[in-house]
Amino acid sequence: MLTAEIICVGTELLMGQVVNTNATYIAQKLCEIGVAVNYSSVVGDNPERLSECVKEALTRCDVLITTGGLGPTDDDLTKEIVSRVMGKELFYHKESMDKMLSYLKEAGKNMTKNNEKQAYLPIGSIILENDNGTAPGCIIEDGGKCAILLPGPPKEMKPMLEKALGYLREKSGMVMKSRVLRLFGIGESRASALLDDIIKNQTNPTIAPYAKEGEVTFRITASAECEEKASLMVDEMAEKVYAIVGEYIYGEGDDNSMEKVVVDSLNKRHMTLATCESCTGGLIGQLLTKVSGASEVYGFGFVTYANEAKMQLVGVKKETLDAYGAVSEETAREMAEGARRVSGSDIAVSVTGIAGPTGGTEDKPVGLVYIGISDKNGTEAFRFVQSGDRERVRKKSALCALDLVRRRILG
Ligand code: ATP
Repeated sequence: MLTAEIICVGTELLMGQVVNTNATYIAQKLCEIGVAVNYSSVVGDNPERLSECVKEALTRCDVLITTGGLGPTDDDLTKEIVSRVMGKELFYHKESMDKMLSYLKEAGKNMTKNNEKQAYLPIGSIILENDNGTAPGCIIEDGGKCAILLPGPPKEMKPMLEKALGYLREKSGMVMKSRVLRLFGIGESRASALLDDIIKNQTNPTIAPYAKEGEVTFRITASAECEEKASLMVDEMAEKVYAIVGEYIYGEGDDNSMEKVVVDSLNKRHMTLATCESCTGGLIGQLLTKVSGASEVYGFGFVTYANEAKMQLVGVKKETLDAYGAVSEETAREMAEGARRVSGSDIAVSVTGIAGPTGGTEDKPVGLVYIGISDKNGTEAFRFVQSGDRERVRKKSALCALDLVRRRILG
């Protein structure tokens, strides 16, 4: 397996003036093709320190990727320094100069004397054209190692990285396969703790966790001489992961989401869903209607923020609201039951809660949410206490509601 080191060059990054999104982006992309990122650092526009970092990187990794410092000014030194460390002279590359001239002309900008510097590239390197800026990138090879030099601006760096990834795929001579398992209802640290043995011993396949709002994903990537073997290796590890945290896995794939899984599952079973939302104010409906194919399964979304709306639209009883309050198991049940009855849907889900930051009491704290679910087998309501600010409480509640629908559909 190829190992890589990322060095992002720029004093503005060191000073915290620019967020280092390049490092994250490149690391994710390398991980996807099964290249192991062993080190990642930031260094300012200082020739000695950059030189030191480059030398060190090339002793300990197969692939060095740098971003930044390919510009026209005197403090843009990455290409000069990496070339020197790798013992390569620079030569004038006319095609790069022509490309730069036509780029500048199209952008309505003038060529300056110092742009010329950008057309000098290391002898023998693979040149990476820049369609979105002036600085070309390059791949410098030396023995089994290589350095890939990319520009700093993300919109220039990203398309160039794609070309470099193609090069790395070929270089590794291996086929990559990966599966992304998506978990809901468990935090990243607990999921990682449960999978600790697998994560600690990973080499090939690798397993990489990633947490985002309300969910955790694990990407399993294997590299092998052929596709069948790589798939088999990934499947074997996925099976182990399913055996440990399978109850939280709601779906697979990069482009999947909880709402998509719900819409697809309903579609497959020719079932319809209605929603009745209080504190989420239509968020579940918004998530569902983002999915193509939602119209087949989702026709009724009641936003019943006020008590009157709960009574008028879905028939929640006044006595229930008086006796238990709007945020209660009883109200959540009546909201779900009413939404199902009024809409004639197969299944209905309801949410009522206190999103905060105000409105909490000792009995009913901020974050308290009841989710009701009703289908032909009956009606149930579940109590949750969500942490976080108003937006987090709302988003997590919407996802929880969808997860309950998913579980109910699956029986
Ligand atoms: P240029 O040809 O535009 O001068 P360059 O390769 O010399 O590009 P830098 O001058 O180092 O790149 O950076 C240019 C801009 O790109 C920075 O001001 C910043 O906005 C953005 N940038 C640089 N590095 C990163 C990074 N690691 N993550 C995100 N943005 C970055």
